[in-house]
Amino acid sequence: MATANVMDKIVSLAKRRGFVFQSSEIYGGLGSVWDYGPLGVELKRNLKERWWRSMVYERDDIEGIDAAILMHPKVWEASGHVSGFTDPLVDCKQCKNRFRADDPRLKGTPGEPDGQCPVCGTKGNLTAPRMFNLMFKTFMGPVEEVAAVVYLRPETAQGIYVNYLNVLQSSRQRVPFGIAQIGKAFRNEITPGNFTFRTREFEQMEMQFFVKPGEDERWFEEWRAARMQWHVDVGITPSKLRFHPHAPDELAHYAKAAFDIEYEFPFGWHEFEGIHNRTDFDLGRHQEHSGKKLEYLDPVTKERFLPYIVETSLGADRLALVALVDAYREEEVEGEPRVVLRFHPAIAPIKVGVFPLVKKDGMPEVAMRIAADLRREMPVFYDDGGSIGRRYRRQDEAGTPFGVTVDGQTLEDQTVTVRDRDTLQQTRVAADQLRAFVRTRIAG
Ligand SMILES: [Zn+2]
Repeated sequence: MATANVMDKIVSLAKRRGFVFQSSEIYGGLGSVWDYGPLGVELKRNLKERWWRSMVYERDDIEGIDAAILMHPKVWEASGHVSGFTDPLVDCKQCKNRFRADDPRLKGTPGEPDGQCPVCGTKGNLTAPRMFNLMFKTFMGPVEEVAAVVYLRPETAQGIYVNYLNVLQSSRQRVPFGIAQIGKAFRNEITPGNFTFRTREFEQMEMQFFVKPGEDERWFEEWRAARMQWHVDVGITPSKLRFHPHAPDELAHYAKAAFDIEYEFPFGWHEFEGIHNRTDFDLGRHQEHSGKKLEYLDPVTKERFLPYIVETSLGADRLALVALVDAYREEEVEGEPRVVLRFHPAIAPIKVGVFPLVKKDGMPEVAMRIAADLRREMPVFYDDGGSIGRRYRRQDEAGTPFGVTVDGQTLEDQTVTVRDRDTLQQTRVAADQLRAFVRTRIAG
């Protein structure tokens, strides 16, 4: 596989098979905004549900919330986003394009006569760099005035911080405990790209873990290891995963320690999850700006302290892209090329394809009954069109782990063949045992 065009092939497959479409495509698309199609929405839901299960259901020290996208504008003053969430940008007065000031394509010095635009090529039309806030701004209520400005949240974490006392008091948790949330966030990125990797609208899966100061380093190590293991358990190739520890000069101002989890995409190693020791920065800022005490009183030791926060922040869209890229294979099977998505069965959009070998002798009726039975528990695709080989290939491309074929023998002894997507092994299974057979293999 030549790496240069693997990404193009994956993008093309994603559209052809209904994983990802460009937003508003019939109007020419909207820059770096994407829609999930029938298979993509299932893949992403499976990943989100698996994350939620591991965070909220399998532990008794984490609670879930779903905070609103719109928040009080003072939240973003306290968080530092109003003053600090900015990029230096350069405008071309000739072609109206906008660039990050560190764009390697810029030649000369922006704001000076030798500054050259990489798009229209003219010299002397680039402005000097100006700071540009990455938050999307809108107005609440009928009047478009400064007092009515609200922002689309640029991160979901703040909805957790401002609700920390509400959750603590209503759930009867004690520190250490965590709050998990899945939700959309928005950043007006100037150079988005690489398909769904960097987009202006995106979904985050974040868990903020509140700990006693002094216990933060132990929890940071624990969460760092747990999050890497989670990706391995989802079936992501371990050799394509690595940690990137932030050097002191890379650390955000609020962080004491930070590790990225990176995946080796066809376009290089890139971060898709971050584990951060945020200290008491966030609660300290909200305590200061809101004037409300956010300290925790330990009911046993009677100690009062502002908890430290260890955060795990995972991009849902990035994770879906990791899963898609990691599953993609071009193989040769019985002398024929095939494209297959080798998803872990637990995250595969469709679990079973059901096929009558021929469209006669009552086989379609039996196959439809089997499909209806499986549908009570899992997504199923019934297909009676074309040769059986072609039908297998179509499901290989969708990443469907099992193919069930109803043939002549089925009519005699009520067994079907189950084809394994990866090993191509065919196993005969009694039709009334099929649901249990597949269920045990897609669990996990
Ligand atoms: Zn220009």
